[in-house]
Order: sequence, then structure tokens, then C-alpha cells
Amino acid sequence: MKKSYKIEVDCANCANKMEQAAKKTPGVKDATVNFMTLKMSVEFEDGADPRSVMQDVLKNCKKVEDDCEIFL
Ligand SMILES: [Zn+2]
Repeated sequence: MKKSYKIEVDCANCANKMEQAAKKTPGVKDATVNFMTLKMSVEFEDGADPRSVMQDVLKNCKKVEDDCEIFL
């Protein structure tokens, strides 16, 4: 399952940090952040619950970049 989320981040470098943090979150198969469109695209593992996984993704992203936001 793949979903796309609107994000807020100040620069391409932080967008990249968010992408890495999202990729490391359990339940996430793959993640890509597009700084130009301010979108995060997340592919979830089979059986993962996107709602709860995205809470963890947001938490992990805030750890590496506290100014970022993901609109869930
Ligand atoms: Zn930045």
C-alpha cells in the first residue's frame, strides 16, 4: 500500500533527513520525500497500519528535524 502526505520542511537537506528517518521506521517499506512538491510518499509493509506507522514516522522525523511537519 502506498500513500502520499503533504509535508512542511525548510530545505532539501532536511527533506533528505526526513526521508532517511521515515525509511528506518518499522512498518515502512520505502519512503521518498520530494522537496519541490513538499510531498512524502510512503510505501507500507504488508499488514502495517498506515495511521499508527505514520505517527512513528512523524516522531522519528521530528527527532532529526524538529521544524518539520507531516500533515496526517
Ligand atoms: Zn533545513
